Amino acid sequence: MPKNLKLIPLVRVKGINKDVARKLATKLEIKTVFDLLFYLPRDYITYKRSKIGNLVADTNATVIGKLVSHDLTMPARNPRLTIQTWKIKDSTGTIICKRFYQNPYYRSPQWQNSQSELYQPGVTVAVQGTIKEDSYYRALVITSPEVTIIDRRNKAQIQEVKCSSRKPIPIYSLTEGIDNQAIGETMRQILKAAKCLVDPIPQEIREKYELIKINRAIANIHSPKSASALSSARRRLVFDEFFYLQLGFLKHRQQLRQVQNSAILAPTGRLIDQFNEIKPFKFTNAQNRVINDILNDLHSTTAMNRLVQGDVGSGKTVVAVVAILAAIQSGYQAALMAPTEVLAEQHYRKLEIWFNMLHLPVELLTGSTALAKRRQIHAQLETGELPLLVGTHALIQDPVNFKKLGLVVIDEQHRFGVHQRARLVSKGKQPHVLTMTATPIPRTLALTLHGDLDVSQIDELPPGRQPIKTTVLSENRRRHAYDLIRRQIAQGRQAYIVLPLVEESETLDLRSALQEHQRLKTSIFPEFKVGLLHGRMTSAEKDEAISAFRDNQTQILVSTTVVEVGVDVPNVTVMMIENAERFGLSQLHQLRGRVGRGCDRSYCLLMSSSTTTATRQRLNVLEQSQDGFFISEMDMRLRRPGEVLGTRQSGVANFALASLVEDQEVLELARNAAESIVGNLANYPLLEAELGRRGHLDSNHCPN
Ligand code: ADP
Ligand code: MG
Repeated sequence: MPKNLKLIPLVRVKGINKDVARKLATKLEIKTVFDLLFYLPRDYITYKRSKIGNLVADTNATVIGKLVSHDLTMPARNPRLTIQTWKIKDSTGTIICKRFYQNPYYRSPQWQNSQSELYQPGVTVAVQGTIKEDSYYRALVITSPEVTIIDRRNKAQIQEVKCSSRKPIPIYSLTEGIDNQAIGETMRQILKAAKCLVDPIPQEIREKYELIKINRAIANIHSPKSASALSSARRRLVFDEFFYLQLGFLKHRQQLRQVQNSAILAPTGRLIDQFNEIKPFKFTNAQNRVINDILNDLHSTTAMNRLVQGDVGSGKTVVAVVAILAAIQSGYQAALMAPTEVLAEQHYRKLEIWFNMLHLPVELLTGSTALAKRRQIHAQLETGELPLLVGTHALIQDPVNFKKLGLVVIDEQHRFGVHQRARLVSKGKQPHVLTMTATPIPRTLALTLHGDLDVSQIDELPPGRQPIKTTVLSENRRRHAYDLIRRQIAQGRQAYIVLPLVEESETLDLRSALQEHQRLKTSIFPEFKVGLLHGRMTSAEKDEAISAFRDNQTQILVSTTVVEVGVDVPNVTVMMIENAERFGLSQLHQLRGRVGRGCDRSYCLLMSSSTTTATRQRLNVLEQSQDGFFISEMDMRLRRPGEVLGTRQSGVANFALASLVEDQEVLELARNAAESIVGNLANYPLLEAELGRRGHLDSNHCPN
């Protein structure tokens, strides 16, 4: 067989069912021998063997026995139908197994001969399937079985079969019209070609990280001889998945670093000094550390590309302010983009106070900025009079031109798409980029998502914050929740009641939110003013609801998850969340972060009528911890990694085998290996080629 398996189309391989090959090509993009070898099983079944004499109808079972006979019948009344029948025997009895095929292909002599050749009486087979009572045979049969030949030696006498009953059978992700048996059979036809695979990973790396060669790994992943053979094959292939992703990230980072025309921003100067004098608190150690990281980055012609992760309230905004002042005092402009108007406005309010004290102008640009104001902002940006612009997507939608954009800050970066970030960045000449997120994510996820960014963590809250007392309440304790809210309001405090309107477009949910607001207003809290906030309101209506709440004209704000991103009212001490089980842990943690911002004791009430232990366990994590990193780690273990970040997050790599929960250690090894080799990639053309083939880091991963 020629070496280049990438050039051999499956349809041209002898012995392969052409119909299956065509379906693989059109439905799964599996066109060549190489493609199929790298189509990895999604799971395995390991036999749990039953004796034929002990089988019970309507259960799933695997039996291992000798093949007594194999037949193919083609009923005349149905020209498409072919029935395949095996008769199997072990020391306790015999059983019939039947498969039905509804395609003329299975009537072709070519296929039928291949089957007869395969299933010769006397071979040992494992059969897995559902046991059914058959009225025709008046006996048990196995329907639609997976039949696997375990031992081809054709021994005349049927004895107790001695064979490894631990051999795992691969299960592939299927698509319409292709079953596992068909893929397995096609795979068997080509598997010997695996030995021609050339390993792109150099020997020294394989040795250092104890990896088996790719050809053995591929052979064993599709046809493992034992559980341990499978485990070393899997380890090698998981390593590959992580390794090429990391190599792609690091290569991208290296390329960015080669372009050296970013502004050098001075880490010390008049503005930063003045800010240090006017700010009413001392930075935490964590803030100082992160500020240091950032100022170091800024003082270089290589663009900064740093992500700051920090829990809600850890003080990311002030850290960004220092970076912004570094840009301004060096004669450059800065832009700060936030995902919602509420959040952009809040940043603006905070910055405005500080900027007034520093005698610096700052403006806010959102979808609702009036046209005249807009024009004025555009003009001032072009002349350079305006050193800082805060805003929403309007920053990239408007024809906004900066005179000298040196720094871009993106808050809640995971809520923006890659292209939106890129659009903002393209408004400067390789500006420095600082991204921030209050959704701390586990290290495995960070590495696979942002492997080309530098990451800093603010893992410490400013002093004096009290932990938020968190309680999970079932429906029958609802009255206690309302009593607590009443007592808090009597002391001059306020409360949020959040409803799970996950997608703001769900009209049904929206209607129930409106009804719930009405119910709370009229029957539960008639003595208080109850406001309403949801995503379908116009920005003017939202503004009104938020400012009424901020000024304590309303004591309770009934809201959908729009409060999640950054509404900041320090007087609120109760966060009550309805149907808490419908939220992810990280999102609940975010919501909880809306309280506990002042110095009073705050409460988070998680309402849940779900009684399953799994739900209970999940919510208990919040009762026990306030640490965003820990919570997100648990969230990832309890749900799929992609969900931890919410639906809008894109770019989580899809791994065929690797698990971010189980394979953390291999990921670290792969990252190390990639770091050790990225500097001299040119010496490894096979690696480069494989990296290109895998196509990581296409447009999806380019913040710059
Ligand atoms: P984040 O954006 O990380 O959620 P913010 O930057 O909005 O947090 O900070 C939350 C609040 O804490 C703000 O009112 C901010 O002024 C205040 N703050 C920030 N850093 C400190 C600090 N070191 N000491 C005391 N208060 C701080
Ligand atoms: Mg913030």
